[in-house]
Amino acid sequence: MNIVLLGAPGAGKGTQASKISEKYNLLHISTGDIFRANIKGGTEIGKLAKSFIDAGKLVPDEVTCDIVKDRLTWDDAKSGYMLDGFPRNLYQAQELDKFAKIDLCLNIEVDESLLMDRICGRRVCQCGESYHVSRLNGKTTCAKCGKELYRRADDNPQTVKSRLDTYNTQTAPLVDYYKAQGKLKTVDGGKGSIDDIFAEICKILNK
Ligand code: AMP
Repeated sequence: MNIVLLGAPGAGKGTQASKISEKYNLLHISTGDIFRANIKGGTEIGKLAKSFIDAGKLVPDEVTCDIVKDRLTWDDAKSGYMLDGFPRNLYQAQELDKFAKIDLCLNIEVDESLLMDRICGRRVCQCGESYHVSRLNGKTTCAKCGKELYRRADDNPQTVKSRLDTYNTQTAPLVDYYKAQGKLKTVDGGKGSIDDIFAEICKILNK
């Protein structure tokens, strides 16, 4: 099964993607993670992506689509994958339909009033785990792997505002795009615990 995960920044896509990937043995492909790895590695793609990411803007479509198109040709993508953070606009969605067959779009919906606090309080680990600072009780390391947690450079109020604007104007229209294709399933990502939301997602995936 090939899935697109849709949702605003802070909706919990990454968190739920880790859980889905573990339970259903599905490859998790996050374009944000790919860009961050490139920035860390000092590659040309990383250098180009950094200015867009720091401004809360989208990295140009051609670069992003090429990365995903190539990644989907790897052997580990043959038995299904979940795209987290791609597509992020109509052009990317149309391009994706040219080189992939998407079965389901899982839309995690969260009221915008919750998102700013969620993102600005987020602390992440290299291993992919993420936490909210209010639940860490002063701990600074990852409960899963023990590494030091850090705050993403783009998780600051000014960039988050721009990321939310970008989401509302460019990404949110994809809800209608996938609805029109009969592939959209929406879960409420603002109510209940991470496990409650995951249980709702499992109900959809088990069907
Ligand atoms: P994320 O980790 O998904 O929140 O992505 C972090 C940042 O990477 C975004 O704010 C964008 O600047 C960039 N990015 C990630 N995915 C895409 C995409 N599909 N198209 C363009 N830019 C992206």
